[in-house]
Formats: sequence, C-alpha cells, structure tokens
Amino acid sequence: MKTLIVISPEVTCGSEAFPLFDAKGNYVAGQTRMQAAVRVYKKYPKATLVMVGGCILDEHGKVFRRAKIMTAFMRSCCPLADVREVHTLPCTFHNFCGIFEQNPELLHGEVGLVSNNYHQERALLMWQMAAKRYCHVMELPTAFFPAEEFVCAKAQQARFSVEYKRRLHLEREGLAHLKGGLYTDKCLNNHRLLAALSAVSSLRHLVPETA
Ligand SMILES: [Zn+2]
Repeated sequence: MKTLIVISPEVTCGSEAFPLFDAKGNYVAGQTRMQAAVRVYKKYPKATLVMVGGCILDEHGKVFRRAKIMTAFMRSCCPLADVREVHTLPCTFHNFCGIFEQNPELLHGEVGLVSNNYHQERALLMWQMAAKRYCHVMELPTAFFPAEEFVCAKAQQARFSVEYKRRLHLEREGLAHLKGGLYTDKCLNNHRLLAALSAVSSLRHLVPETA
C-alpha cells in the first residue's frame, strides 16, 4: 500500500477530541475511525498516511483545520509514520477533490481509504464523482478499510443501536440523493466559510472560482 487516506472525521473545535456524536446528535464515531487508521497503518508501515481534513469555522468565526488535529493524533500514535496533511472544504467529496488537486502524486500506486463502516458506500461514490472531475486519476481506491464500529458498541450499548440505525438511515438517504442527482453540496452554500477561507492566503485556493 503506497498511500493510506484517512477521511476527515468530525472534530470538536478547540479540542483534540473526535466525538462519538456530532452537534445534531448523529453517530459519527471519529475516534473509532482514527483508531482504525492506526491499526491499518501498523499493517502497512511503509505507506504514506494522508490526513485529509475539512476546514470549518469555530464559534468565533475563525478557520479551524480538522487535518491538524488528525495529524497530531496520528503522530502521537505512530511517531515514525510519514504523515501528510491536506486541507480542504468540509465534505467528503471535497476531501477527495483536495487530494486529487493538491497531491495527485500520492495516487500513483495502491491507495487505501480509511473511514467508518457506515461511510463506505457513500465515500466510494464520492470518490468516483471526484475522480470524474479529475479524470487523470484512478476510478476506485485499491481497498477500503472500515473501522470496527462494534468496538464502540460495547462502550455505548444503550445508545448505540438506536443511533447507529439512525446513522445508517441517514447514509441511505444520502446515497439516494447522490444517485438521484439531488445532492446539494453544503460547502458551496456556506458563504461565511468561503469568505473566511478567502481571507487566509494559504487556504484561498480552496474557494471555487464560481463561489
Ligand atoms: Zn463539499
């Protein structure tokens, strides 16, 4: 495996935590995803680890970079790893666009994706959408490494089943929207975020010209 891409989990602004639930109470299990990345890396220690993270706004309207927190976590768990940080717009589609655009050299060879189990189908479809836009890259990654959601289930037995079912329901809805051409990319309507990114010289390139 040449490259292992860890798809951006939720990160709580101002902390180093990858929460189990997002602000709306949806199951996201970021910690489980990051732990899966450590486990997969140990199988492929020569791989370059790519922490692709969305930029979001914190409560003060300042740009917060999820990839920085992901990188810090990965370096603390795997000090010898070659870890790269890629900053993008927040959604999974734009996570991939960011890599295709900024680091295409990482995609020449075997590429693995790490994310949560529930995310697999939608992530692979978004990869295809992004690959279509940057047609010089492969259509699908070599492998998808899903996090073991049920590790989490043990600790969260009471809430887990309800929340996880809800998550799967949301994923199915999201997939149907994607397949039906009804998907709206929230990043592109987030004018506050786009304005804040335009004001940071190192992130200005993330703002689409059409926005
Ligand atoms: Zn997006």
